[in-house]
Amino acid sequence: MTTKSQSYLTHFRNIGIAAHIDAGKTTTTERILYYTGRNRNIGEVHDGAATMDWMEQERERGITITAAATTAHWTRSGTSDDYTVNIIDTPGHVDFTIEVERSMRVLDGAVAVFDSSQGVEPQSETVWRQADRYGVPRIAFSNKMDKTGASFELVINDIKERLGAIPAPIQYPMGAESDFKGIIDIIRMQAHTFTNDLGTDIVVSDVPAEYMDKVQEMRQQLIEAAAEVDEALMEKYLEGEEPTIEELVKAIRAGTIQKKIFPVLCGSALKNKGVQLLLDAVVDYLPSPLDVESIKGTDEEGDVHEFPADPEGKLAALAFKIMADPYVGRLTFVRIYSGTLTSGSYIYNASKDKRERVGRLLKMHANSREEVSELKAGELGAVIGLKDAGTGNTLIADGEDRVLLESIDVPEPVIKLAIEPKTKADQEKMGLGLSKLAEEDPTFKVETDQESGQTTIAGMGELHLEILVDRLKREYKVEANVGAPQVAYRETITKPADVDSKFARQSGGRGQYGHVKIKAEPLEPGSGFVFENAVVGGTVPKEYIGPAQ
Ligand code: GDP
Repeated sequence: MTTKSQSYLTHFRNIGIAAHIDAGKTTTTERILYYTGRNRNIGEVHDGAATMDWMEQERERGITITAAATTAHWTRSGTSDDYTVNIIDTPGHVDFTIEVERSMRVLDGAVAVFDSSQGVEPQSETVWRQADRYGVPRIAFSNKMDKTGASFELVINDIKERLGAIPAPIQYPMGAESDFKGIIDIIRMQAHTFTNDLGTDIVVSDVPAEYMDKVQEMRQQLIEAAAEVDEALMEKYLEGEEPTIEELVKAIRAGTIQKKIFPVLCGSALKNKGVQLLLDAVVDYLPSPLDVESIKGTDEEGDVHEFPADPEGKLAALAFKIMADPYVGRLTFVRIYSGTLTSGSYIYNASKDKRERVGRLLKMHANSREEVSELKAGELGAVIGLKDAGTGNTLIADGEDRVLLESIDVPEPVIKLAIEPKTKADQEKMGLGLSKLAEEDPTFKVETDQESGQTTIAGMGELHLEILVDRLKREYKVEANVGAPQVAYRETITKPADVDSKFARQSGGRGQYGHVKIKAEPLEPGSGFVFENAVVGGTVPKEYIGPAQ
């Protein structure tokens, strides 16, 4: 039952955009921010104006590294229903898996973006499996419908064959490649034709005759798929009755939230086609914080406590990202699950067993920050002033008994480099810079050998370390030389099928499973690793798993 204090939460969507690198995640996110009215200009990835990619080297490399939470607002087309959509950016590169892990933990639903000309790629599979592991409901966006070789059918088939999931296409493209003109809404049997470059002039009409047979057949299949997950709809179906649009939407929503079916949409983010319909689908099919299971925490006696999403409940929040900010210092990104976090108050960091003072609170928008006095259940934002909170830390009300929330799996680093400053005098500055960077990123480790004085850095891959060395130069003004990479041993976790992942998370992924040490060799810089005799816990594309060469 939804109480009065919780009612705003039905209009909240906390989502991630997950994809293989280059599938168009950044472009799609940019367009979402544009159409939700926060962006005045559409930022192109290649001209370096993309607002989500604000870190300099991200722009240069065209990769999104940080998992920033951005708040946007969307009015459902054809209604006056306003929704708050928090977008948690997730990276597409394997070296930044921890970023994916931490964003999966704090989002309620995701949009999986695919390149229509490529179908399901290795990394899309990795990200999909991670979402499975965290029980995240998804809708799929078959992007790049304008590209040569684009095929909506390819994406649908790959979702079935490669991901073993049940796709529920709710749209059908009119044309493809350079002839991609518009999108048919299979549920409402309407054709949306885009008539200007910004995708803001849309003509809605009946389904053109040439698509009628195909679309009717798909609608029938959609009704059957929805009936499989909805009893009332199944009864109607068996009696040969047509469901209403509302009934169909409701059944698809329920099936999506239960992760039994995955609505599939199409479009071209780059050509501004289909993003508004995608946003409508986000609010129609992805869960609100009330639709997902309440987060649980364990106290020191081992008793499990639930924290339902309610601003009047006990405070329960998870710190999911630490970022150094050039203007305000240390930012701690938090998701509030229950209760209300107030600026100037004291909270108890149960993970560190420390009382901490909350300074100012911020909501991040695409191009601006908004200072707020409180963050309520279901909201995401950044806290200024927390000195000790780290990624995955539980924050609860001051004075409460210690409870630890389900946390984040932090994988062990796989690659190590020796590092020294180009100028000897920079040794101390380098140490300081590296420790600040390690604070932000739990997969980045810094060690100094007591005897030799040699400093080594360890991380998730060559690209990961290269970017951190680059940041050391840009942000801490220390130029460093690095040695040849040593890919030593990777510790990973094998997970017996019958282990409840909840307990695994509570114990930080340790102990319950035991560790397996496996030998890893790089295939080629930044591409992944070959493993010997190992079961890998979901962070490495399947293709790379096999005997070491
Ligand atoms: P990300 O790595 O997943 O964030 O992908 P980006 O958004 O950076 O896009 C990768 C490349 O694909 C860029 O050159 C984009 O301009 C291009 N791209 C993105 N969306 C589309 C699309 O809908 N159609 C075409 N043709 N190209 C696209």
